[in-house]
Amino acid sequence: MAARKLDADQFFSRLAALNPNPRGELEYINPFTLLVAVVLSAQATDASVNKATAELFKLADTPQQMLALGEERLKGFIKTIGLFNTKAKNVIALSRILIDRYNGEVPDDREKLQELPGVGRKTANVVLNIAFAQPTMAVDTHIFRLSNRTGLAPGKTPDAVEQALEKNVPERWKLHAHHWLILHGRYICKARKPDCPRCVLIDLCGFKEKTSDAPAVAAKKPKPGKPAAPKRKAAGRSKSR
Ligand code: SF4
Repeated sequence: MAARKLDADQFFSRLAALNPNPRGELEYINPFTLLVAVVLSAQATDASVNKATAELFKLADTPQQMLALGEERLKGFIKTIGLFNTKAKNVIALSRILIDRYNGEVPDDREKLQELPGVGRKTANVVLNIAFAQPTMAVDTHIFRLSNRTGLAPGKTPDAVEQALEKNVPERWKLHAHHWLILHGRYICKARKPDCPRCVLIDLCGFKEKTSDAPAVAAKKPKPGKPAAPKRKAAGRSKSR
């Protein structure tokens, strides 16, 4: 029997009802600082990036100021973030390119963005979505997991999931879809133990191993010839909620 098709419109209506204006959690001031924050966030948490950029962006929120700051001083601001040596190099190099080719502006074009050092497809998608309101799907680990678990957009690779999302997410939800999915994956449909009892998508979701609040008590089968142990009375539990 074919799997039931997930009702994507209902899926996003419910996430939208909970959070009508979803926002990413990276702090930024303008498209340039957004680009820098996303480059720094590769394999790092948004919270760790925000901590580092709070002081950095006070001194350097344009490519010109970033170049003037220089690689060594930049490293001083971001040294608490993983891979900071490479990331500092990339931020200085991309600042130089933005000045040389784009008059110091961040281009609103995927190919041009992906030519910048340290900028892959996911980073370009985040910048296009947040800074330029393009309905892109930036597939990170949370979106990849949620899309596969629920059956919204199954795929073996981030690119395959991105394509499936583009096909399956209804037009009217596309602009904010990636934020709703990230936040739901981060706080409810968590990697180790999804919080299914508190999930508004529970009846739509196709995940077969949904969690429950009930304690996992495996009923022991009596051995052949042995009588079953008498049932214990549940103590102290009220039926009313
Ligand atoms: S029901 Fe569970 S597995 Fe499905 S989306 Fe919600 S939290 Fe994730």
